Amino acid sequence: MINVDILGQSLTPGQKPSAETLLHCQLYRNFPPVGAVLHGHSVAATVLSMLGPIRFSGYEILKAFGFATHDMDVDLPVYENDQDIGRLAAKIDPLLLADPPIGYVISGHGVYAWGSSVEHAFWRLEALEFLLNCELERRRLT
Ligand SMILES: [Zn+2]
Repeated sequence: MINVDILGQSLTPGQKPSAETLLHCQLYRNFPPVGAVLHGHSVAATVLSMLGPIRFSGYEILKAFGFATHDMDVDLPVYENDQDIGRLAAKIDPLLLADPPIGYVISGHGVYAWGSSVEHAFWRLEALEFLLNCELERRRLT
């Protein structure tokens, strides 16, 4: 881990943060209760995000995100990958502010999840990865 300020600048001389640091900082800036942001590169997130929109319907684990029931549809936003992270962050910003999702995916790249602490963010990331794995399996079978 590298400590950075809210603009993504390293607080430790000589350490260079990931190019994707701005996406993490965007979540901290927009949602002050967020205490941790995690990003993963799973096969399920990478593959599903390249196939178009991702919708989770009827999964019990949706309740892990605070929903009262499994009987609902929840969309996971998918954004086109972009090596210009500032431009990518600008595309993500409107949805984050209008209707905060349970996480999001960058197409062909990976998933972002967040929470009030590292443990909470990890728990949400695990739930998202579980949903993505279920959806990948479901699509293989249908
Ligand atoms: Zn990445």
